[in-house]
Amino acid sequence: MPDVSNLPLIERSCRSCTLCCDLPDIDELDKPANTLCRHCVRDQGCTAYAARPGTCRDFLCAWMSDGDWGPEWDPTVCHMMVYAQGPQLTVLVDPRHPDFWRQEPYLGQLKRRAAEAAPAGGYVIVYVGDEVEKVQGD
Ligand code: SF4
Ligand code: SF4
Repeated sequence: MPDVSNLPLIERSCRSCTLCCDLPDIDELDKPANTLCRHCVRDQGCTAYAARPGTCRDFLCAWMSDGDWGPEWDPTVCHMMVYAQGPQLTVLVDPRHPDFWRQEPYLGQLKRRAAEAAPAGGYVIVYVGDEVEKVQGD
């Protein structure tokens, strides 16, 4: 998981989402990708919240921190989490819903973002389990 420090949007909260305790790898916890953290109760939250490592404290997905991502990008709705890593927009898809990102409105929006980011060297990468795909802009 990257070190992403943002402020949450006041109207949004993680609620029952635990995707970022599941999908990314987290070195500080020796946690592989797509494996639920040993401190996480799925769909409930962290049982070690006060002692969670800095990576967890600092991370917010794009939906939580950027109002440009609409309600359809709530990770509990879209079954994926999105975050920026330098020029890369990373999309981690819940392998239990492997094709959801190819549906609309998701694929169209990812294509648009890929096209908009390309002139400045940006790009969009989707991870579904062991599969990796670069989104081609429209
Ligand atoms: S993926 Fe986003 S909404 Fe879900 S728990 Fe992580 S920060 Fe919260
Ligand atoms: S320590 Fe807590 S916040 Fe961090 S990944 Fe594990 S369950 Fe999630």
